[in-house]
Amino acid sequence: MLNELEIIGKNHSKINDIDETVSSGFATRCIHSGITPDPVTGAILTPIYQTATYVQNAVGEHKGYTYSRSANPTVSVLEKKLGELENVATAVCFVTGMAATTALVLALLKSGDHIVCSDVVYGGTVRLLQQVLIKFGVSVSFVDTSIPENVSQAITKNTKLIFIETPANPTLKLSDISAISAISHEHDILVAVDNTFLTAVLQKPFDLGADIVLYSTTKYIDGHNATVGGALLAKNNSITEKFYFIRNAIGSIQSPFDAWLILQGIKTLALRLEQHCINAGIIADYLSQHEQIKQLTYPELQTFPQHALAKLQQSGFGGIITFEVVGGYDNALKVMNAVRLCALAESLGSVETMITHPASMTHSPIPAEQRHALGISDGLIRLSVGLENPEDIIKDIEQALLQCED
Ligand code: PLP
Repeated sequence: MLNELEIIGKNHSKINDIDETVSSGFATRCIHSGITPDPVTGAILTPIYQTATYVQNAVGEHKGYTYSRSANPTVSVLEKKLGELENVATAVCFVTGMAATTALVLALLKSGDHIVCSDVVYGGTVRLLQQVLIKFGVSVSFVDTSIPENVSQAITKNTKLIFIETPANPTLKLSDISAISAISHEHDILVAVDNTFLTAVLQKPFDLGADIVLYSTTKYIDGHNATVGGALLAKNNSITEKFYFIRNAIGSIQSPFDAWLILQGIKTLALRLEQHCINAGIIADYLSQHEQIKQLTYPELQTFPQHALAKLQQSGFGGIITFEVVGGYDNALKVMNAVRLCALAESLGSVETMITHPASMTHSPIPAEQRHALGISDGLIRLSVGLENPEDIIKDIEQALLQCED
């Protein structure tokens, strides 16, 4: 029987992986990596293999696929592409980002084990670790990983995983991936990085020493608000095998149609991220001069406390900005209810600009006291800057901010 990594190799061994000597630019790889014209019809797009099962030639003799909970050819192509963009063998794709986080913990930890996690992370991650996995004997310490020494101090003899999200959702606090990886490896502990906010276009956690990369593909990787999905990648193939095993065991594989949609979205990943950064820089500049704005956070700004680290470990500052408005919570609600072009919505990383209220939306699973201590105030606004003309986004914010003057 073939294992999952052998299946990927077998099914792609004859494909025309792009010749690195001819074309290895990241934008080129986003389009071509892992993809070959359909060998039967020549179709340029990967077919959607919408099937539950696969007819076998004889008992134990098949073409690498047996049942679509274990693996599916369309999903495999996306996994191969994500792997190539990150320079590892393959990714393992899940129905959601949270399913990927669940699989990460189930694959690598057991009852009695301990996780050190960034204190500021997506609210759903806090809910999973603090309210669900704790019931199965996995404990977690949330620490400020922007100070690497805090990680050293939080490590216990039972620590099996360091989980960092950088930039962190929603405060954009950064963690130094190299420093944390060095500390963790001294103790033989694995480091996983949630790279959802930047993707491999702007940050390469494996090059900085991380062992595992996690994505909510729902965000920039899809980029069009068409799907929810997640992915895990590991430097070490034996860890990847564990992810495949657990995904099959719990039944959380991505659907072929969603994988196909993401395969289309990802083709413009490099171009999109470049423009997201340009647009966000323009909007941050505008907001920095607006009298109704306070507590503006964007890593490109000199006022961002970790600007130097952002320049060191990222190749761009990303598309997310956070800010508060003068007048706090009441005025924040007025602004969010007044926008017309920006969508009031609970996500980020798409072509559409989205405005989010973390306290009542993405970070509502975190108790208010804990949230406030982390700088996620009730008046905080998160803006995921899209790809509209930046002057149109500014016009919309401008008219919404007029509401604060009433
Ligand atoms: N990680 C980050 C940084 C996120 O922002 C999110 C969702 O917002 C997730 C993980 C979870 O992903 P999903 O919503 O696809 O389950």
